[in-house]
Amino acid sequence: MLGTILHGPGDVRCEEVPEPKILLPTDAIIRLSASCICGSDLWPYRGLNDTSQPMAMGHEYCGIVEAVGQDVKTVRPGQFVVGSFCISDNTCPHCRFGFQSSCEKREFMTGAQAPLARVPLADGTLVATAELPSDDLIPSLLATSDVLGTGWYAADAARVQPGSTVVVVGDGAVGLMGVLAAKQKGAARIIAMSRHKTRQDLALEFGATDIVSERGDAGIARIKAMTNSVGADAVLECVGTKESMTQAIKCARPGAMIGYVGVPHGVELDGQELFFSQTGMLGGPAPVRRFLPHLIELVLQRKINPGKVFDLTLPLADVAEGYRAMDERRAIKTLLRVQ
Ligand SMILES: [Zn+2]
Repeated sequence: MLGTILHGPGDVRCEEVPEPKILLPTDAIIRLSASCICGSDLWPYRGLNDTSQPMAMGHEYCGIVEAVGQDVKTVRPGQFVVGSFCISDNTCPHCRFGFQSSCEKREFMTGAQAPLARVPLADGTLVATAELPSDDLIPSLLATSDVLGTGWYAADAARVQPGSTVVVVGDGAVGLMGVLAAKQKGAARIIAMSRHKTRQDLALEFGATDIVSERGDAGIARIKAMTNSVGADAVLECVGTKESMTQAIKCARPGAMIGYVGVPHGVELDGQELFFSQTGMLGGPAPVRRFLPHLIELVLQRKINPGKVFDLTLPLADVAEGYRAMDERRAIKTLLRVQ
């Protein structure tokens, strides 16, 4: 079959790869309904992570179960499933506390930018729907697997409450999903920090009430001016740079929580500054598995439409163009047709 392999910085190819097989009795093989490219795939693509070995790319997935190992009990061939990018058993202490992304048996999903993928720990990782969903819901169901689940976690970790004033730092796909999540959680005011027209428009559509295009000190001053010099109740940090983290901390009021889901690259925090900011921080890889049943239900009931975050659809053969378009910020997020 064809699959996506990253050979080095800027060098991603759709090429012939072996079909995945059941390797352990707890595995499932799924036939993907669609796949996509994640903002985090751009880190190795840009050479910011080690790429000395060829890497099978892709960790966002949904599709039909093709085969299961002999110990798999909760999913069976023919069912439609969505799974998290973090593989988890959903039974260990961390999983039971709702932090499946720190599962004692955690693995990270790979190889899902392809027509077939192997999912380890299928019982713990996959959530099946009662019926096969209609085709038009596939992009939104695919979004729950990572990008929406991560934006949702940012809002959850930032303790967004009904009536909250929320600032979302970052207008990538995760930031836009954070806006959607804050809206669903009843935030009264959602300020999206973005300087790109198309992303601003999508943020407004997902529920943002205000747009701030300034950054750095000017951005912080705008947020302060909009909140009577108080700051926001909750801040979602969805980028992972030193600048975005500083922005997030300085936009938060004392007592606020910051949900940070951008993978930090070159971020160092000043202990004294953090101490006197009196803000709380919770972040890390999103425990998407905790939220999946709820998010899938919201999609199936057509209460949310996170699939609108995909603004480019390409066949798998053109995956390299999908990466380029996201790297150059011509596309917010690329959906890949894999069948
Ligand atoms: Zn676990």
